[in-house]
This record gives sequence, structure tokens and C-alpha cells, in this order.
Amino acid sequence: MNPWGLLGHERAVRAFQGAHRAGRLGHAYLITGVSGSGRRTFAARMAQALRCSQPDRPCRTCRLCRAVEPDAPFWQAAVRRDHPDEVDDPKPPRDRRDAGFVHTAYLDVHVLRRRDGFRDIPIRGVRELAAETYLKPAHGPARVAIIDAAEELSIPAANALLKTLEEPAPHAVIILIAQQASGVLPTLRSRCHHLALAPVPAAQIASHLVTDLGLEAEAAEAIAAASRGRAGWAIGMARDEGRWREFAERQAKADAFERAPPAARFMTVDELLGRGRPLEQAAQAYLWLAHINRAQASELRDAMRATGSDAPTEARAALRSVVARMLRAREVQVHIQHNVTPKLVFEDLALRPAADSRPR
Ligand SMILES: [Zn+2]
Repeated sequence: MNPWGLLGHERAVRAFQGAHRAGRLGHAYLITGVSGSGRRTFAARMAQALRCSQPDRPCRTCRLCRAVEPDAPFWQAAVRRDHPDEVDDPKPPRDRRDAGFVHTAYLDVHVLRRRDGFRDIPIRGVRELAAETYLKPAHGPARVAIIDAAEELSIPAANALLKTLEEPAPHAVIILIAQQASGVLPTLRSRCHHLALAPVPAAQIASHLVTDLGLEAEAAEAIAAASRGRAGWAIGMARDEGRWREFAERQAKADAFERAPPAARFMTVDELLGRGRPLEQAAQAYLWLAHINRAQASELRDAMRATGSDAPTEARAALRSVVARMLRAREVQVHIQHNVTPKLVFEDLALRPAADSRPR
């Protein structure tokens, strides 16, 4: 655990703390990392460090710190919850269904994100957020504005944000969260200090789950391996046994699906997508596809390891097979995105598991 109570990310914490102590903080930061890597918790810690009323910042116990602790009601309402690995979206505090964005504000900390079901964060959202960053903070030394999923800013919204970054309010810090820096407009990127959150080694995650959360070693290692370095994801799973069990069962089913003959694959499709309304089916289909992608990714890693220059024919065949199935999974994803009935798409996948393959 580093001084911010985070698992991993020591380098990013040191970079921020060093600049803070030296009085060299920027007005805009870009935090990147894959979903579940702890980007929002990191942003919350930055907000705490900037606004804490205690000498040892962030203390995580004063009123301003508690307001944005990751389990505080404000933060729960503010974060995106539409990733398949996460729970349902709680009702946002300001309900503007037509606006296309959700803006949550509490004690001078703001979070702006895309509204579920909309394509991007519209310019109105950025204008509203930007206007508020110019207001003097009422509760501490700084106002913090977080844009969650900055790659989802529309082009006009990104340009409006650029103007704000060019003339920042002296008391405001704007934090952009994104999966990859390349997803953010270069003009925006160049105005931000970039903090990249690297994957946390599995052994470090497992040891934390055992020591600090009291998990059995075997469960801790299984969760750490499945997390692929995403500490936030691993901790969430470790705290919710039911959710982890459900995840592990679905993953085992996806692993089996990849190897099963067509008849068994058909039965799985029927079991998973045989009921429910179209929207639920589509959500189920995406979730299922994510598990298939995981199964294929781990198979690909194994196959690559086995395939050297003097690889035996079977190893090369295994590699070809998994790549063909990955291409096929990509086709499935595109079909679902284009609103083809998920069950039909998956029945077709059950028959034709790999790209350019005939029914087996
Ligand atoms: Zn504090």
C-alpha cells in the first residue's frame, strides 16, 4: 500500500505529490489506465490531496476528504456504472434525461460524464462544468472538476474544454480520466500532465487480498489472476463473494464454450440468451462476449508461448485456431452493435466458431 492507501501506482502518486509539495501543480491532469485499474479512486485521492484541511494530506478523515472517499454517496452517484463488470447505475442526483450528460457536484468537487444511452458528452455538459470551475471554491482551497471518460467528449465539447484549459481559473484543477491517452484529442492531451496507471503485478494484488481483506490464498490468487492487473476490479470482487462466484462461473462456462462441440454450444446459447427482453438480451450478449474474449486472450497467450521458430505443427495450429476464433468474436460484436438479434448471432457462432470456417 502506498501513502494514498492505493495498491500499486506508486510512481503516479510520487509524481503528483512531488509536484504538489514543490508548488508546481498543473491545472489539468490526464489519468489513463484500463477500466478497473483504479483511475477514479486515484482522481478522488487527488481531489482529497488538493483540498484536505490537515497538514498530512490527504488525511482521508476530515470533512472535505470524506466527501469524496470512494465509498461516499456523492462518488457512488457520480461514477460511471455501465461497464459490464460493474453494478447498475444509481439514479443521478440531477435528472435531465434529455441532456446527454450527468454532472454531479458536492463541496466544490464536480464530476461530468456521458449519460448512459447517449453517444457522447455534449458541449452543454462541458459549458456547465467550465462555468462552475470559475466560481471561487466555497469549502476549501481548490475546486476540482473530473471528466470521467474524456474519450467520450464530442468534438465541440472537447474544443470548448480546450478554451477552459487555455485560460484556467487559478483555483481550479481539471482531471480527465481515459482508458488511453490516444483516445483524447491531441490538443487537449498536450495541455494536461499525464499520469498513467500501470497494471499492478498479480502477486502484489493477491498478497493484499490475503493480508488486508482476509481472503484464502487460493481465492486471492484466482481473483488476482482474473483481474489482469486491475487492482480496483480485484478489490471489488474480493469484497463481494456472490459477484465473484457469478463471474467465475460465467468464465468457466465461456472457457468450456470455446472447446465444446456445436450441440453443447447451442445449449449454452439457449440457456444464456433464450429469455428476456431484447435490451436485456443485448446486455447479456455483451457480457458473454467479454468472457469469451477473456478465454481467447488467455488461450492466445498460451499458444504464443508454445510457438517458437521451431514450433511443432500442433502449436502453430492452436495459434491459428484461436486467432480465427478471435476474429469471429469480433464479427459477433459488430453484428450485435448493429442490432441483429443476439440469440441468432450466437446460434450462428455456435455453428461457426472461427472466421472462414464451415459448420463442424
Ligand atoms: Zn483531509
